[in-house]
Amino acid sequence: MIRDYRVIDFHIHTSTMNQANPQVLDFFKNANKYYMDHFSQEINPEGVIEYLRMEGIEKAVTLAEYNPESSGVVTNEFISSFCAGHDELVPIASIDFQSPVPFGEQARIAVNELGMKGFKFLPSYAYYYPTDQRLYPVYSLAQEMGLPVMFHTGTSIFIGTRVKYADPLILDDVACDFPKLNMLLEHGGRPFWYDRVAWMLLRHANVHVGVAGIPAKHLYNNFKHIEKYSDRFIFGSDWPGIPDIHILAEKIMDLPISREVKEKIFYRNAAGILGLP
Ligand SMILES: [Zn+2]
Repeated sequence: MIRDYRVIDFHIHTSTMNQANPQVLDFFKNANKYYMDHFSQEINPEGVIEYLRMEGIEKAVTLAEYNPESSGVVTNEFISSFCAGHDELVPIASIDFQSPVPFGEQARIAVNELGMKGFKFLPSYAYYYPTDQRLYPVYSLAQEMGLPVMFHTGTSIFIGTRVKYADPLILDDVACDFPKLNMLLEHGGRPFWYDRVAWMLLRHANVHVGVAGIPAKHLYNNFKHIEKYSDRFIFGSDWPGIPDIHILAEKIMDLPISREVKEKIFYRNAAGILGLP
């Protein structure tokens, strides 16, 4: 618990030294000393779970990525085995655009063989549009199985990313074509597309906002309807990109919104999407 709120963190990264590209490690060096001291050489689930417990986090969604051009490659196999046997860690898959294996097949392997619980896409990190038809079998499978699909939207600090692919409005097509797919628009289109994500939220009942990387005051100022659409905001930290998850969470807890809404943002919405009790 953080203060007296149950918290699921819907957005963390676990990678080893050689998986993350050097610029990512340089970023962590400045952003997160604890991470560098404890995890940069070797990372294991027990250590991460211990850290999460210290921070007051019950569960954390742990993300695979295939972004050799920008941030690095953390495979589905690595994330699956990292989380295996640990209920505190929820493994989320991605798709390797450089693999000859068809994307629908990659998705089936991730879900059926690796036990992964959803998908994350970072189009601006690996240069594709989320409307790429090769991805449609992945969305189809996720929709059918009730698994969430996360999309990075908005800018990134990392060199090598290309922002045009991260425009939230591109996802209007996906939301129309898969109206029952639980879509999470991570970072809310920060910093200059908040209005687009806010519109997507109004337009599409299946669109959610992943609040990772949105400063609390921007969240409050740019998403005026946060109370009305309280079922569709989900807390995440983007750790280890930030040092202290609980400090980030407390800034949102300090916003002048109701306790009930905060309980949804920190726990209930994520639990619902992940099918947890
Ligand atoms: Zn992230």
